[in-house]
Amino acid sequence: MRVFLAMLSHETNTFSNIPTDRRQFEARNLHYGGEMLEVFRNTGTCLGGMIDVAERSGVTLLSSVAAAASPAGRVTTEIYAHLKERILADLRAAAPLDGVLLDLHGAMVPEGLDDGEGDLLKAVREVVGPTVPISVPLDLHGNISADMVAHADFLVGYKTYPHVDMRERGAEAAQRLLEIAARKIKPTRALRKPPMLPPLGNQGTARGPMRRLYDLAGEMEKDPRVLSISIFAGFPHADIPDAGLGIVVVTDGDQALAEAKADELERAAWMHRKEFVHTGVPVKEAVAKALATNAGPIILADMADNTGGGAAGDGTEILRELLRVGAKAAVVASIWDPAAVQACVKAGVGNAVSLKVGGKVDDKHGEPVEVTGRVRTLSDGRFVHKGPMFRGLEGKLGTTAVLDINDVKVILISYRWQTLDPEMIRFVGIDPLAEKILVVKSTIHYRAAFEPIAREIIEVDAPGLSSSNLSRFGFKRIRRPIFPLDPVMED
Ligand SMILES: [Zn+2]
Repeated sequence: MRVFLAMLSHETNTFSNIPTDRRQFEARNLHYGGEMLEVFRNTGTCLGGMIDVAERSGVTLLSSVAAAASPAGRVTTEIYAHLKERILADLRAAAPLDGVLLDLHGAMVPEGLDDGEGDLLKAVREVVGPTVPISVPLDLHGNISADMVAHADFLVGYKTYPHVDMRERGAEAAQRLLEIAARKIKPTRALRKPPMLPPLGNQGTARGPMRRLYDLAGEMEKDPRVLSISIFAGFPHADIPDAGLGIVVVTDGDQALAEAKADELERAAWMHRKEFVHTGVPVKEAVAKALATNAGPIILADMADNTGGGAAGDGTEILRELLRVGAKAAVVASIWDPAAVQACVKAGVGNAVSLKVGGKVDDKHGEPVEVTGRVRTLSDGRFVHKGPMFRGLEGKLGTTAVLDINDVKVILISYRWQTLDPEMIRFVGIDPLAEKILVVKSTIHYRAAFEPIAREIIEVDAPGLSSSNLSRFGFKRIRRPIFPLDPVMED
């Protein structure tokens, strides 16, 4: 059996002023042909799961491109056209095919387009024709469109946030593709988009409304005619008509059943909508609370400055407050500031340096902080994720410096990456367990690896482009009315 394999993954925050261009992909993942198999084989990723199932089933994989960039602004026309054309050209060259596996995100917004994945899937369908099955795993944050559902035979979203089931979902998408190709199943799909734009803060699947919805979906999946149910919480920081919650039910040849289950889940999502509203602790109060605690580590989650949600990653408000109150044994992981890193490189390890840190990308993440500190360490920013997320995958932070400001240690990085793995602190020689306060720039993902080591977690409401306070954003193009932005929807 011959199966085509490609990955194109981006979560686009349309409020970000950082264009997602070729360099952003090169900084994270841009691999062609067989190289992508070498990079992702045996990793805790979708591709890892897909490659595993394919190779164990004796499938010939025709690998095209694996491209992913850290969430930021719209994907530039140049790089999107390049990746799309490369995938389509490789598809034509790979014929005849028994199936197509595409690892996509679901919230990619290229310049001049609202729905990147819908556009790509439509083009792929045109190349392979109506009979070659297409199977697609997507991120829980996908803003699912009718085009995506129309052009893919099988779709499945991550069922967890933190996303600890990426490998499992990749394997599921591959397994289902093989079953469709062997004519063992014939998927039919239903999509529901209730008028809901859940903020990120309460989208976690350990508890709350997403847990309720997935528990209900889990009951429904016990019916053997139901192949898969995905509740996409959606990505709210994309000002496009399809932003928000999406429900996809896939059944085996039973459209009426898919529609009925989707209706029931839509009603449940609406009933629990208010549980998605999230309120964080103000910065001063959060830092004071952490200082008042005797033992550590206390996690201060800088939820609104999560590069994984397209925020700048150079927010300064928590750092400013830590310095103001004279906090000790604190780590800020991390601040994206390549210029500050270079200043530290110039000063050299062990030497003092005065510089401005952070607050440089835009006016949404606080002003730069003027500091004098000592360069504690320098490194090339390479580490290996211990997981559970991305286990085994190499991480790249670019040249990385640790600046020690009276025992507030600031990890300065050159490539944007969310603080989702304690390895990002350990690899620069800091033991997170020996610190009192750990500031992590992450909304929910940090919980997978930091919750087990944290004495306490404080969810901080600092400024930033991944803030759960959606009334701070100037939406123009989302569907209206929509919960929770429009008061009419609160009854
Ligand atoms: Zn996600």
